[in-house]
Amino acid sequence: MPDQKHPSWGEGELREILCLMMIGTCVWIVGTQLGVFAVLLDATRSHNLQDMLMLGLCMCLGLIAAAVRKSFKLRRAMQERDGAEAQAESIARHDAMTGLANRRLFRETLAARLDAASGVPALAVLQVDLDRFKPINDVHGHAAGDAVLCVVADRLRRLVSADSLVARLGGDEFAILTEAGEGADSLARLAREIVKSLAQPITWAESRLEIGATVGIAVATQESRTADALLHAADVAMYQGKRDGRGTFRFFHLDMGHALKVRAQLEGELRVGIERGEIRPFYQPVVALPDRGLIGFEVLARWHHPRKGLLGPDAFITLAEDTGQIADLTWSLMRQACTDARSWPPHLQLAINISPLQLQDRHLPERILAILTETGFKPGRLEIEITETALVNDLEAARVALKSLQNFGIRIALDDFGTGYSSLYHLRELQFDKLKIDRSYITSIPLSSDRAKLVDAIIALGSSLGLVTTAEGIESASSVDWLADQGCTYGQGYLFGKPMDKITTDGLLEDWTDGAGNLVIAPPDAAPDGGAMADAATPPDAPKHRQIAA
Ligand code: C2E
Ligand code: MG
Ligand code: MG
Repeated sequence: MPDQKHPSWGEGELREILCLMMIGTCVWIVGTQLGVFAVLLDATRSHNLQDMLMLGLCMCLGLIAAAVRKSFKLRRAMQERDGAEAQAESIARHDAMTGLANRRLFRETLAARLDAASGVPALAVLQVDLDRFKPINDVHGHAAGDAVLCVVADRLRRLVSADSLVARLGGDEFAILTEAGEGADSLARLAREIVKSLAQPITWAESRLEIGATVGIAVATQESRTADALLHAADVAMYQGKRDGRGTFRFFHLDMGHALKVRAQLEGELRVGIERGEIRPFYQPVVALPDRGLIGFEVLARWHHPRKGLLGPDAFITLAEDTGQIADLTWSLMRQACTDARSWPPHLQLAINISPLQLQDRHLPERILAILTETGFKPGRLEIEITETALVNDLEAARVALKSLQNFGIRIALDDFGTGYSSLYHLRELQFDKLKIDRSYITSIPLSSDRAKLVDAIIALGSSLGLVTTAEGIESASSVDWLADQGCTYGQGYLFGKPMDKITTDGLLEDWTDGAGNLVIAPPDAAPDGGAMADAATPPDAPKHRQIAA
């Protein structure tokens, strides 16, 4: 509505003409008072009428030219103002970096399309949230993050139909508004294509950046007929996808809302919990085979939750990874564990689990070394456990990080060996110090001779590569001798001890010392009832441990 936006220029012109007439009148009054006109009349009398007409005509032409010029100038100024307004309007509705619609435009378009339909329109919102985006910003810098967002925008644009709207809602969150007329199958197909496309690596500078995406889908229904309700439903479905392991998609359904609230609450509690030191290290013994001499502990995270009691890592490690808190959690644990271990016999080692995400941090070795220096813990006593997922994500980053950790004297163990994929490839490509054979292989040794052959082959493979091996999850004494006979170097499992807190560990270290000053878990006079000591919060007045029968 231009009339309302700009003052009417006809009105302005009239005002200007009136002003000019007033000025003319004033000039006339002054002129007659001073007798200027008489002088002028005398001068014009010497010219004839034709001359006077020509003079009048020229003056009129001058006036017309001035008026036309002015009107052009005014028109141009108005056009510039309109253009600037349109540009400002567009900026306010688009994301400057990717050029996609922003949340405001997306919401407005969604609301307009919902309102325009008489019944429930066949519309769907797909919310796309990037996985592992934060580490890219943290590790490679914001320029890399920006480049990734632009590539994501391009890939999304290419995947959707012309009548769909793609938006960047903010941060690493994108959304697509699309027709749902073809039903859930076609929406699922689109979501699958998005997940697949965004999992393709992005080349930036000399790095290969790996992200992923989780998609939440909400279809308009009678209950979610407003833009906000539909956006919220897609958000809830997306979070469910994250909880279920990321790199996937989920359709919204009503009981998802409750789960999301619980997760959001836990996320906030975890942040506070890490700050307050509620996440504490528990220590599970690792012994040499076959004599069961204690060589150190694996550090396993436990959360002393103020309401829920003691929580295991399943309840919070993935949450910490998803919400960018895993690094803080690990450093807090490492600091506590290195401090605890200062009072233990100096030959005892600590093995600490590092999340796959952390291997992408270029400064990981320096950060670890800083904690070791701060706590006075020797690098030679530390072992870092990584899983194969870390290697699949970015082999080159892993190679660099592992090499510099080893240069500091820190050992690297490949955890849960046999559960990931391309294990042999990784063993050849990277230099590990230790293989930890996954519990699933060890527990099945007594059940299947094929499994036993497989474990035997893994141990042989390890020793052919010059690696030591640890069998994880040893629960029964029957497999200990067999594992030792096959050449397995170390053992870990409930048979030797469950993860326990610092106080319990301190007490057991005293009890485990044999006459020669060695720490041996199965002393010769072991009680016949066997079994593991209680996990974690052993009450101070409870028996400290049960000795393990050979
Ligand atoms: P993991 O590193 O393979 O740790 C061994 C897991 O097996 C531990 O479970 C341990 O309690 C359990 N385990 C050991 N021996 C036995 C046994 O004889 N029988 C049975 N049934 N289980 C046994 P936990 O503590 O629940 O930890 C699970 C996983 O959580 C760990 O597997 C590790 O991947 C992860 N995790 C634990 N703490 C941390 C941490 O501080 N940081 C990271 N990034 N991950 C952690
Ligand atoms: Mg481990
Ligand atoms: Mg393991």
